[in-house]
Amino acid sequence: MPDEAGTTQLAVIGGGPGGYAAAFLAADLGLKVTLIDEQAQPGGVCLYRGCIPSKALLHAARVLTEAREASRWGIEFQPPRVDVDRLRAWKQEVVGKLTGGLAQIAKQRQVEYIRGRASLLDARTLSVATHDSGDKRLGFEYAILATGSFPAMLPGLPQSMRILDSTSALDLSSVPKTLLVVGGGYIGLELGTVYAALGTEVSVVEMLDGLLPGADRDLVAQLAKRIEKIFHKVMLSTKVAEMKEGKSGITVKFEGASAEGGEQVYEKVLVSVGRKPNSAIPGLEKTRVQKDAKAFIRIDAQRRTAEPTIYAVGDVAGEPMLAHKASHEGRTAVEAIAGHKVAFEPRAIPAVVFTDPEVAWCGLTETEAARENRPVKVARFPWAASGRAVTLDRSDGVTKLVIDPETERVLGVGITGVGAGDLIAEGVLAVEMAALASDVALTIHPHPTLSETVMEAAEVFYGQATDIYRPKKS
Ligand code: FAD
Ligand code: NAD
Repeated sequence: MPDEAGTTQLAVIGGGPGGYAAAFLAADLGLKVTLIDEQAQPGGVCLYRGCIPSKALLHAARVLTEAREASRWGIEFQPPRVDVDRLRAWKQEVVGKLTGGLAQIAKQRQVEYIRGRASLLDARTLSVATHDSGDKRLGFEYAILATGSFPAMLPGLPQSMRILDSTSALDLSSVPKTLLVVGGGYIGLELGTVYAALGTEVSVVEMLDGLLPGADRDLVAQLAKRIEKIFHKVMLSTKVAEMKEGKSGITVKFEGASAEGGEQVYEKVLVSVGRKPNSAIPGLEKTRVQKDAKAFIRIDAQRRTAEPTIYAVGDVAGEPMLAHKASHEGRTAVEAIAGHKVAFEPRAIPAVVFTDPEVAWCGLTETEAARENRPVKVARFPWAASGRAVTLDRSDGVTKLVIDPETERVLGVGITGVGAGDLIAEGVLAVEMAALASDVALTIHPHPTLSETVMEAAEVFYGQATDIYRPKKS
């Protein structure tokens, strides 16, 4: 029998961005909160093996690339010597700082943190298998499931240390000579960029006919050009037919447009073909919580499941599987539990791929508008016309606004270029605030910055951009 650990008003299962954001807001609102996770400190996938370690390594990759490219400006560095052990240690330091900070904030807010694996006993009770003090039983008024997701794997792969998922790729146990990345999405391109900068010969195989299938093609074009240069090979409309482990690596057979009949041997293979919801929570079947066909937990606008005491947020509760979506959902669920009139209905959830250049978008995309037969006008500002981009020697970018031709409202924004991930925040605000293109055009932006490209894209809409001649078509 589990020990009685008492009762709580809100039990949050999962300490990632969805779970800790929910727990912290609930404590701020005066609830008694218990946060449960298997890790020693809160953070979840995002902090331990996702967003944060990948961005630390991408920063190192960016420095390596800039140092190499500086020769164009008359600055020559010696070829870099990468100490992988120190790089790994620094990345862990970054993770430690942030997860340690979360643990401290949890304490300050008097959120009880239990380390262990939670199972549901019914719609008001759970049990936690703790690491050090056996099973604990906890009664709750409400629970939020924020158990996240895990990497999808291809069927029939051999068991091999040479086959990596995002977690083992981020461990950076070595810098292989060759790496095959299976899947040209977020993870494949971000981690492929890291390994390429560290000196690995990276190839990517993507089953669809373009990289980053979720993004507008014009945004991907600039990235694809650079990827073609920094990666060894990009194989589109191609799939892995077979993988076998041999002495010197993994022998891979391909099928599709770039298969070219033969086999290739890679020292390591990274499988990044998507993620699946972590919804096999023990005991869930003892509640009325339901799942959809893809195993996501079904929720309503308040993030409530079919069981009135249980809410679900983040990756386990549906796409897009992004940290900022998880944390906003977490806060919505808590407000609903606190009795506030609230619903999760964003107009824009930004997406950022932290490649080089970065690709970012929010709101309505051009592809979606075309699919829905929705008339839109698209105003594009190429970064070759941005003074700031030219000073950075990075004119490989574009900023575009997707605009309603009748109301002139900004419905979506897309940006490719260095720092696009930061720049998109202005686009999100414009879409959320229902800004008109004229609001953006008339807002004074600092010069010389990349942020001016957002303003100038709006000026393009009116055929009056200062730095580019694009007369309005009648
Ligand atoms: P998670 O962060 O997955 O946390 C879930 C937690 O629940 C885990 O700690 C898990 O141990 C715990 N748990 C599960 N079951 C139980 C149980 N029964 N009992 C106790 N604890 C349990 N998103 C971005 O927005 N930006 C990025 O740059 C970005 N980069 C990424 C890079 C990589 C390599 C990966 C893999 C993902 C990245 N993501 C990024 C996605 C992001 O990590 C997720 O969207 C986010 O972590 C989801 O948060 P969550 O709270 O839903 O769950
Ligand atoms: P993804 O969905 O972004 O990309 C997977 C890619 O693999 C797709 O392009 C798909 O067409 C391709 N694919 C699927 N099966 C294949 C096969 N058999 N052969 C070849 N290609 C195949 O998934 P991911 O890169 O694994 O990332 C998972 C999720 O994690 C993302 O969707 C995102 O939600 C999140 N994430 C976000 C960030 C960020 O915000 N910067 C970074 C990393 C991960």
